[in-house]
Amino acid sequence: MAYAYDDENIFAKILRGEIPNKTVLETEHCLAFEDIAPKAPVHVLVIPKGPYVCYDHFADEASDEEIVDFVRTIGEISRMTGVVEDGFRVISNAKHNGAQEVPHLHVHVLGGKHMGPMVT
Ligand code: 5GP
Repeated sequence: MAYAYDDENIFAKILRGEIPNKTVLETEHCLAFEDIAPKAPVHVLVIPKGPYVCYDHFADEASDEEIVDFVRTIGEISRMTGVVEDGFRVISNAKHNGAQEVPHLHVHVLGGKHMGPMVT
């Protein structure tokens, strides 16, 4: 599948430093920052630095090193934010039916309260 990455999306601008963000953690391949409109006491977005549109794009085309860094960063965020013990939710919305708003892969790490059942 061919993926067209839009360089002007909000997270691309955050990665270029054109829009401020509250960084929680930066690694070689990832940035983790607070969501601007948090849906839970802890709501952190983890994004790869590479130009990947969505989850399947990343899974298909990212290097093993990028994928390992991404997965480990999510784990590290769960520890740094203190949600690891009581539990947390990891979500990635993809494309139209997934209701993805920003076309740069991101994972939501949510916690700090009981998240309730998954809604569709
Ligand atoms: P999506 O619906 O694409 O899965 O989630 C996009 C998320 O990005 C939303 O939770 C929204 O609040 C967040 N968001 C949108 N614009 C900004 C921004 O400029 N800064 C930050 N930190 N988060 C943003």
